[in-house]
Amino acid sequence: MGIFTQRGIKVGHNKRTSSIQPVRIEHCETVTLLMKQHIGVPCKPLVNPGDRVALGQVVGDTDAPLAAPIHASISGTVKRLEMIRVPSGEDVQAVVINTDGEMRPAENLEPPSIGTREDFFAAVRASGLVGLGGAGFPAHAKLRSAAKDANILLVNAAECEPYITADHREALDKGEAVIRGIRAICEALEIREAIIGIESNKSDAIQKLKALSTWHSSANLKISVGVLPSRYPQGAEKMMIHTLTGRVVPLGKLPSAVGALVMNVASVAFIGRYIKNGKPLVSRTVTVDGGAVHTPMNVRVPIGIGLEELITFCGGLDSPPAKIILGGPMMGSASPNLETVISKCNNSLLLFTRAQAELMQESACIRCGKCVAGCPMKLMPCVLESAYRAGDLETLTKRDAMGCIECGSCSFVCPAKRELVQRIRMGKRLLREEEAKRKEAAKA
Ligand code: SF4
Ligand code: SF4
Repeated sequence: MGIFTQRGIKVGHNKRTSSIQPVRIEHCETVTLLMKQHIGVPCKPLVNPGDRVALGQVVGDTDAPLAAPIHASISGTVKRLEMIRVPSGEDVQAVVINTDGEMRPAENLEPPSIGTREDFFAAVRASGLVGLGGAGFPAHAKLRSAAKDANILLVNAAECEPYITADHREALDKGEAVIRGIRAICEALEIREAIIGIESNKSDAIQKLKALSTWHSSANLKISVGVLPSRYPQGAEKMMIHTLTGRVVPLGKLPSAVGALVMNVASVAFIGRYIKNGKPLVSRTVTVDGGAVHTPMNVRVPIGIGLEELITFCGGLDSPPAKIILGGPMMGSASPNLETVISKCNNSLLLFTRAQAELMQESACIRCGKCVAGCPMKLMPCVLESAYRAGDLETLTKRDAMGCIECGSCSFVCPAKRELVQRIRMGKRLLREEEAKRKEAAKA
């Protein structure tokens, strides 16, 4: 159980925004900067209401090792500090900034000086980078933990989730920055091989990256493009590692256990830009799509922009959205309303009509076994779901719930539209909480 397999599913791509270059939002009235936009410890606000802030100024940080600073994504005045309920149900502190219309950059923004590996980690931390593919793991911590064992860098440009094309555009439009980022990472970690993994349905980006890789490969660093089958979830770390290198990450272990470091293509491109211009993470590309939005498009947004302001930029709504998803339809999180904001981890906003949402309506399990057949980790999603609903931690453990990579394939193939991945994710949370309690009790 829990051993990776080459299974997976065919999904409709619906990538109608792939030919649209991102359009930058030049003016944004207000941004709401969540103090937790990463896995780890929340930042503390470093500003107060009434303070004037510049674009790129640090407005939140912490001494905790697993965190990344938050920077102002517009210039203006701090309006208030407040608690915001995010789609996961957590209450997170936020800094709200009103624009002064100037986008006035902070004075100290300059390319980092990097002489040593430590300098590189410090620079990546100062940039505020977290995994832009959606995971939100602080990039400096990931690089640091991979430094000892990694001998290959895999750049994840698979973007196998339907609808989302933000990474496709990054690979196509920012290829030079991707290569610069690869070189910086490999030089700092003394890695001599990098493969850019990309699904076969992105032929324009494949062509461009192949040409750049050949041009920039050297005796010290071989860069190549690995074309992945268009089969979901090719972008899942463990699946990508296996497809591109043949290495199998053991259950419960990280990619570094097999010498691999996997980073999202937008994160790598960001590093490539940051070492050149010193501009921290204050904006990102978001795909806005779904039947309810007037003009589906890719938008370069200031981090912290409200969903309503973003939708207005896309021409508004043609009908009230019956389902709002931040991220892709397979792994994203549903939001109950539009009163939330784009954070560093959000690569997509999907606004589905009632008809589209009805196709996702849940009914009782008919025991067809399709979720079992579609699981790339050879798990039994229907059993894990029932175990979570019954609070049965023993079955969750026995049936390897922790081996679930949360790819969402089971939910996608389920004819009853059971919310399998969401419940398995919650089941994993229960197991982690139980483990933490056990450790606490052992300490006492
Ligand atoms: S989300 Fe579902 S299909 Fe994907 S690994 Fe987990 S149980 Fe398997
Ligand atoms: S695919 Fe859905 S309906 Fe079929 S066994 Fe799994 S949970 Fe039940």
